[in-house]
Amino acid sequence: MKRRDFLKKAGVGAAAAAAATTVNAPFVHAKKKIKWKMVTTWPPKLPYLQTGAVRLAKRVEEMSGGQFKIRVYAGGELVPPFGSFEAVSKGTVQAGSGAAYYWAGKAPASQWFAAVPFGLNAVGMAAWFWGGDGLKLWEEVYAPFNLVPRPAGNTGVQMGGWFNKKINSIDDFKGLKMRIPGLGGKVLAKAGGTVVLTPGGEIFTNLERGVIDATEWVGPLHDYIMGFYKVAKYYYYPGWHEPGTVLENFFNKKAYDALPKEFQLMLDVATAETYNWMLSGFNADNGAALEKLISKHKVNLVRFPAKVLDQLRVLAGETLDEIAAQDKMAAKVHTNFKKFQKQVGIWGQVSEKAYYDVIAKKYSLKG
Ligand code: CA
Repeated sequence: MKRRDFLKKAGVGAAAAAAATTVNAPFVHAKKKIKWKMVTTWPPKLPYLQTGAVRLAKRVEEMSGGQFKIRVYAGGELVPPFGSFEAVSKGTVQAGSGAAYYWAGKAPASQWFAAVPFGLNAVGMAAWFWGGDGLKLWEEVYAPFNLVPRPAGNTGVQMGGWFNKKINSIDDFKGLKMRIPGLGGKVLAKAGGTVVLTPGGEIFTNLERGVIDATEWVGPLHDYIMGFYKVAKYYYYPGWHEPGTVLENFFNKKAYDALPKEFQLMLDVATAETYNWMLSGFNADNGAALEKLISKHKVNLVRFPAKVLDQLRVLAGETLDEIAAQDKMAAKVHTNFKKFQKQVGIWGQVSEKAYYDVIAKKYSLKG
């Protein structure tokens, strides 16, 4: 045998052996199995929000060949729902799932990463995070809390809510008792309404008994599950207060930094994939649920008058400016967000808006 042939054969053999080893044990270089805990703010089995977190854990486990396991706890199972931020910040657990506007009391700027009234929609938020400065700014806001944030889902445009009083003018908000949290609630209060903070489980009864006149929740899918169509006269749209609410995963920075690089990447990739899965699912299921609400349950679908939306938008602008005036980081994020919205807004006019105008004729709502 010539020397060259020998080397060729030996080389092929060695490569094949190496390939076999790689196939059989892809993570032999990982020092140890990783076990994490994730605490969410959601009730068990809440479609997309909780099930998205559970799905993420499953994806990471599968991607890592069982080497990286995340055990997911619903709100209250390990820590109270709104205790998740602190638990992950302190390193009691490694991961959390929620929505950034829940942490407004800790960091006012966090609200811009969840939902801004009259702000960016789901496509716009994704563009801001991954095509603009959004994610970088979010990391800056969470850094003092020892947290690494990641966009992990989006509800799409939410619905305006269920009302037992008709909204014909901005004055109809005066004295209106509505369950509407966050920045939307602040805008409603500016319009003269009364914000009632009702836990999810009590909204139906409060609406039925007239304790509240109106409530927003999510969109047709989740609203249908809550049964609001049984106790409210009008179903208003669009959800000006939550035009594309972002769900988040956040990781304890020390735990995240200590992960082997490939596990970090799996976590990031699986989280980004969950974002897409969630938004797609929301769109598909909301369409089907809305159809059922209209045709089967004869829900009275009403659009907010254009003038009312214009006036609410002015109040929203004032609300955001006021928050930004009181917090340096919020001001930085607000300025960046506004600039970005303007930038994509111009493009949106000639792309999505123009296209929707054309296609909407085929799917227009009756009445
Ligand atoms: Ca909502």
